[in-house]
Amino acid sequence: MGPPTLAVWKFTSCDGCQLTLLDCEDELLALAGQVRIAHFTEASSATDPGPYDVSLVEGSITTRADLERIREVRARSRVLVAIGACATAGGIQALRNFGDVAEFASVVYASPQYIDTLATSTPISAHVPVDFELRGCPIDRHQLLEVLGALLAGRKPDIPNTSVCTECKRRGLTCVMVADGTPCLGPVTQAGCGALCPGYRRGCFGCFGPMAAPNTRALLPILRTCGMSEDETARVFTTFNAASPAFAERSEE
Ligand code: SF4
Ligand code: SF4
Ligand code: SF4
Repeated sequence: MGPPTLAVWKFTSCDGCQLTLLDCEDELLALAGQVRIAHFTEASSATDPGPYDVSLVEGSITTRADLERIREVRARSRVLVAIGACATAGGIQALRNFGDVAEFASVVYASPQYIDTLATSTPISAHVPVDFELRGCPIDRHQLLEVLGALLAGRKPDIPNTSVCTECKRRGLTCVMVADGTPCLGPVTQAGCGALCPGYRRGCFGCFGPMAAPNTRALLPILRTCGMSEDETARVFTTFNAASPAFAERSEE
């Protein structure tokens, strides 16, 4: 029996999460020694028809072709991992879910009659069973390596479901919201980035999406006290994870 096979798929997305895999640099060589990369068009023209032991899926479902292809990918994959805000929450392109896609197309494209698109952008889990979701826009490379290592070892990935605040505390960072009055979505945002933005004295703007059971209602008045207007809170909750219910609800308040 050969090494396990890994496939990487792109749906509607910017490729940033796939680039995170390429950005693993030193670790990629070790990983390539443990798996056979059977399909990864961002990195190689070689394609294997499968089946695949692990499929990483980037991007959301926005076309009829996407709908058909994700079912094919699922059927050929033993384990399917959705990576990034597009694949786990519809991504930035889910902003279309709150508007009229035909109107957008008529404004953006010179010949909108050639555009074949669904009215919504939806996560992979809305269409097929997903074995694991890795959050972020883009995903964090250390978390990606943890997920792949765990799957290869046959164990559950050790990915926290706490907030970015816990990462601030672990790094010993001064809270930018308490110390500087900088608005920060860290208290309701899924951990995983290592508190990247607070580490640069900036507030978190929620690119990892809502954590498990976020108290977004309690955070709103604090964001307003820090100077965020209603428009700004609506925008910050609907940027990267617009279709996540916990963020979408707050954007309307
Ligand atoms: S989640 Fe962000 S970085 Fe990843 S593909 Fe989507 S837009 Fe790009
Ligand atoms: S800076 Fe933001 S993420 Fe860090 S502790 Fe303060 S509120 Fe939480
Ligand atoms: S601090 Fe927030 S916005 Fe910044 S990378 Fe982390 S999750 Fe994304």
